[in-house]
Formats: sequence, structure tokens, C-alpha cells
Amino acid sequence: MTDRPVLQMAAPRRGKPPQHFADLNHDERAALMREHGLPSFRAKQLANHYYAHLTVDPDDMTDLPGDAKGPLTEAVFPPLMKKVTQAEADGGATLKTLWALHDNVKVESVLMKYPERATLCVTSQAGCGMACPFCATGQMGLTRNLSAAEIIEQVRLAARAARDGDLGGDPVRLSNVVFMGMGEPLANYKAVIATVRALVAPAPEGFGLSTRHVTVSTVGLVPAIDKAAKEGIPVTLALSLHAPDDEAPQ
Ligand code: SF4
Repeated sequence: MTDRPVLQMAAPRRGKPPQHFADLNHDERAALMREHGLPSFRAKQLANHYYAHLTVDPDDMTDLPGDAKGPLTEAVFPPLMKKVTQAEADGGATLKTLWALHDNVKVESVLMKYPERATLCVTSQAGCGMACPFCATGQMGLTRNLSAAEIIEQVRLAARAARDGDLGGDPVRLSNVVFMGMGEPLANYKAVIATVRALVAPAPEGFGLSTRHVTVSTVGLVPAIDKAAKEGIPVTLALSLHAPDDEAPQ
């Protein structure tokens, strides 16, 4: 008899990913600039490069002081993920990318071009603790939560790929994000809400997506749904009901 995966709400503790600009709020970014001996308005310039121009390359940042920008960008934009493999389908209109995170944990994101939109399916957890019996990720158990910056980086890299014509040729704007990759997004509540805020905030504080174009898919963690409803961000919630009650299948 095979062992069934069990429901696992708490994420195992593992080494944290490096702190990244996208993890920080306004005040923390200003404090970081002070640590580097820079005025706080530099944080806004960095945010503009990151969210609006989708770049972390100091050579693109002509408005930053020449001698400071190399060390600064290395410190604030540490690499969070490396591309392991990328598979194409639908004549290049779908790109499925496998990423290795700082601790070599692997996660996937999928970028899809449709006639009216380009959609990214992001991963919010490495593995998943919800143990849905039909789902391959659910059989893996939960390895760890992703940080906000690890989710936001999936979006930045996809938005850049779409802009640069990697989705079957023509440049397109990433318009939609769905939290339907690995993991139960509401079980990684803080990072997912921080990511949603960055998705819908106008540039330079975020990617400026419409709230109608952001979908958080959940198996139905009711306390987290109640909490999310009070956040004041009217994104779409997709509820995936797998059973008529809360009892675990025997
Ligand atoms: S919540 Fe989603 S990712 Fe997690 S086990 Fe269920 S179907 Fe799979």
C-alpha cells in the first residue's frame, strides 16, 4: 500500500533566500539607500528600473552614479533564480520554465500568449502541503514557501521575455497573472499578498496590472480568504473545491 501524503499547513524552516529589493517596503528601501550612503530618491529610480524597465543590469541605469551602481545593484538585486530548462509549445506561444532557486529547489512558471492577452502562471510554494490526491505537486509535500521577491522575479522575467518577443516573435505585454502554479497561495499568505500588491501598484512601485487580471487560486482556506477580503485589493479569487466537506478522504 502506498503512503498518502498528509495535509501540511506549516512550511518547513530552511535557509532564507537572499534579501532582495522586491522584498522591501518603502521605508526599508529608504533605509537600504542610507546604508549605501545614498539619498532615498535612488530607491525610486531602482524601482523604476525594476518594475517599469524590467531590468537589474547596471549598464541600463544611466541615471545612477557610475561608481556606485555596480555594487549597489549587486547588493539590492541578488540573483534569486537560474533557468534550468525551458520547453516551448504551441509554436512558441507557450513557454514553460524550470527555475533553480538559491538552495537548488526547483519551481516552474508558465507563460502563455493568447490573441487578447499574455498570462503568467506563477508558483508560490516549492511543493505543496495540501495533499490533493490527484495532483503530482501534492504528492511531493511542502518543501518551503517562496519569498515575495522569488514570486515577483518570476513575473519580472516573464514580462521581460514577453516584451522582448520570446513568446513566438512579436513583443507583447504581460497582462495577466494567475497563482495556479505549484503551491496553495493562501498558505504562503504574507508573500503572496506582498506580490499581489506589487503586481497591481502603478509603476514605479509595481507592474501596474489591472486587479481584474490577477487571479489567486485556492483550495479554500477560509480564514485566509476572510483575511484577504479585508486587504482592499479586489483581485479575482478562483476557488477549487475538491470535496463537499472538510473531512480528509479515508
Ligand atoms: S493545492 Fe493545488 S498544488 Fe497543492 S496539492 Fe492541491 S492542486 Fe496541487
